[in-house]
Amino acid sequence: MVFEPKRVIFEQDALKYPLGEKLLRYFKDKGVDTGFTASHNRVVSIPGKSRAEGFFEGKRTLVVGVRRTMSFETCKPSAHYQLPLATSCPGKCEYCYLLTNLGKKPYVRIYVNTEEILSAAREYIEKRKPEITVFEGAATSDPVPVEPYTGVLGKVIEFFGKQEYGRFRFVTKFTDVDSLLGVPHNGHTRFRFSINTGEVIKQFEHATPPLMERLAAAKKVAGAGYQLGFLVAPIIASEGWRKNYRDLFETAALEFKGKAPDLTFEFITHRFTRRAKSAILEVFPNTRLDLEEEARTFKFGQFGYGKYVYPKELFAVLKSYFETRAGEFFPEAKVEYFV
Ligand code: SF4
Repeated sequence: MVFEPKRVIFEQDALKYPLGEKLLRYFKDKGVDTGFTASHNRVVSIPGKSRAEGFFEGKRTLVVGVRRTMSFETCKPSAHYQLPLATSCPGKCEYCYLLTNLGKKPYVRIYVNTEEILSAAREYIEKRKPEITVFEGAATSDPVPVEPYTGVLGKVIEFFGKQEYGRFRFVTKFTDVDSLLGVPHNGHTRFRFSINTGEVIKQFEHATPPLMERLAAAKKVAGAGYQLGFLVAPIIASEGWRKNYRDLFETAALEFKGKAPDLTFEFITHRFTRRAKSAILEVFPNTRLDLEEEARTFKFGQFGYGKYVYPKELFAVLKSYFETRAGEFFPEAKVEYFV
């Protein structure tokens, strides 16, 4: 599933970098609409009058820019810092938290100044030495769908392969991983796949590959010696959840049991903010996501944005169920967190 943008918009400064130039030539040769913008933060030429139209047009737009801010956000619980490689992704998952974070036209944005971003990462690593510093490459995007054009992820993995005190991790739902299999990662990158039940994928994760394709890609990645992980997010406690998630563990175990000794699991239960709910209802008016506030517990968050989470009792049942199934099907794996 290769991302084929309908239009590609370049920041003028991006053309000063070889990758920016290469991408302009590449998309022009393919006959894709190209244009320019003064800033990758403010792109005004994407059509779409309604929120839904803007959303779908944004998802088909690639913006190529230069990353100027070199201070990295922290990234709990999966890493110390976010590594800014891209934002948004061509997937159209109904629950995606980026729906509220990226404005009304969530265009896919990539940065061409990889070397500068990596030198900033090197400084962060130096400061924390001899502690290991872990960077998350998928905090604001799925970095895999753009990899066939940019090759950035490959460079980043190779960079971390050479870092004694730096480690890299990212997560994807996409499966175009062949170009990454031969990269000298030196065991310093954890390659995680986001997986979910067939029902959740079919109902909510539009424009993403099905489960079996994700597992097949994960197999290739494990075969290439990467550390492998599975992220199950969001865990949705809809009717039949026990059986559906048990099936998921069983299917994954058939492919991986005993074959990925260093496997990790991360579990994130479904939650939403009031802002997210109204954005989801505008873009996906027929959504079947459970957004009933009355069935949830309100939890105050940072910056005054509270979120609706599963009530304490249900959360405890889910946590125990997932930890038990992980132990049963993957006794050698580590559960990193359940939130
Ligand atoms: Fe959001 Fe990930 Fe789905 Fe992309 S694949 S829309 S980043 S949840």
